[in-house]
Amino acid sequence: MADVLVLGSGFAGLWAALAAARRIDELGASGVDVTVVSSQPYHDIRVRNYEPDLTDCRIPLSDVLDPAGVAHVAADVTAIDPAAHTVTTSVGERRYDRLVVALGSAVAIPDIPGLREFGFDVDTYDGAMTLQAHLDGLSARSTVVVVGAGLTGIETACELAGRFRVVLVDRNPRVGSDMGESARPVIERALAANGVETRCGAGVVAVDRDTATLSTGEVVTASTVVWCAGMRASGVTASLGVPLDPLGRVAVDDYLRVSGLDGVFAAGDVAAARMDDEHLSVMSCQHGRPMGRYAGYNAVSDLLTAPMLPLRIPWYVTVLDLGPWGAVYTEGWGRTVVATGADAKATKNTINRERIYPPRTGSRADLLAAAAPDLQSRPTAEG
Ligand SMILES: Cc1cc2nc3c(=O)[nH]c(=O)nc-3n(C[C@H](O)[C@H](O)[C@H](O)COP(=O)(O)OP(=O)(O)OC[C@H]3O[C@@H](n4cnc5c(N)ncnc54)[C@H](O)[C@@H]3O)c2cc1C
Repeated sequence: MADVLVLGSGFAGLWAALAAARRIDELGASGVDVTVVSSQPYHDIRVRNYEPDLTDCRIPLSDVLDPAGVAHVAADVTAIDPAAHTVTTSVGERRYDRLVVALGSAVAIPDIPGLREFGFDVDTYDGAMTLQAHLDGLSARSTVVVVGAGLTGIETACELAGRFRVVLVDRNPRVGSDMGESARPVIERALAANGVETRCGAGVVAVDRDTATLSTGEVVTASTVVWCAGMRASGVTASLGVPLDPLGRVAVDDYLRVSGLDGVFAAGDVAAARMDDEHLSVMSCQHGRPMGRYAGYNAVSDLLTAPMLPLRIPWYVTVLDLGPWGAVYTEGWGRTVVATGADAKATKNTINRERIYPPRTGSRADLLAAAAPDLQSRPTAEG
């Protein structure tokens, strides 16, 4: 018996596991088990955590893994020993023949007085639900401070602006500093139309139950601070003993193999893969899902000495939700705006509600078909 172990059940992990099951089928192999190890028995649609209704954002893994014959172990992974081919978890040690590391990332919460005690985030389903329960107890006149005017912070601020006074704080001189010259004016227009106040060139230096103190000295009366600044790959990558990039990611080759290690693949936010000759993967579900599919396919191919497939993705888009105003859709690494407002919002809705979901028919054939190592075409204005 041989074991393919997939760590994580997010956008990379789920698709790695299904792709591994598919490749075993395709090669007509027997005696290879695929097992997912992740903290909770769910596939979370993490990208929707800023939305107000999360009822359809948590998919039981049994619905999507059982039909494909993939096992799940609910456990926290604490370390990987690539020399011994073992993984340490909260329920014991597991041996692997091939490993796919897909443990994702987490928002980095800095050591700001009061932030851990009183702050909120939309990083995980549980975090987003805790925030929503807190918001449900607030009056509409309350102020919410959102920290970090990157993609997650902008989406969160725009969504909350319909319900509360929202103050968006960022250390950079302007909002959406990564979004480029073409999209930034659109974002600024949408924030203004949504009534979001901005404080640029400022950080939050202290938080308590009722206030957020900014580095400018301003004290904002707010019982809610939502931290959306800075992502970091899972700390478990450190146990691999290979160099990490500034985001904590391991380098992988075109086959998603962790450089310098035998039998270890990585996908999603824990891995930096080359998307084309100039660009590395971005921490995103856009890249995480195909990385997962190729990692799962290649892990089994490598195990069974079958040909592997290289991954390169020739397109890059960003579709940013701007709340009631709509959305902005950009193409290319320079993020050129191609659609705004309601048109872009329709695309965003299709992505968030259909495109990134696994089939939920309970059919093995549907799940394995969706796990093919093909690149989805870029979303269109129609979705
Ligand atoms: C609010 C928000 C909005 C976003 N919007 C977009 C967007 O519009 N477009 C886009 O492309 N990306 C977006 N992202 C980023 C996207 O969600 C991530 O890049 C994506 O989830 C990465 O997929 P992943 O599988 O690598 O990690 P994740 O989806 O985070 O999955 C990690 C998995 O590993 C498990 N895990 C983690 N640590 C352990 C451990 N120690 N032991 C066991 N299990 C563990 C988790 O439970 C989970 O199952 C957004 C993120 C957020 C928070």
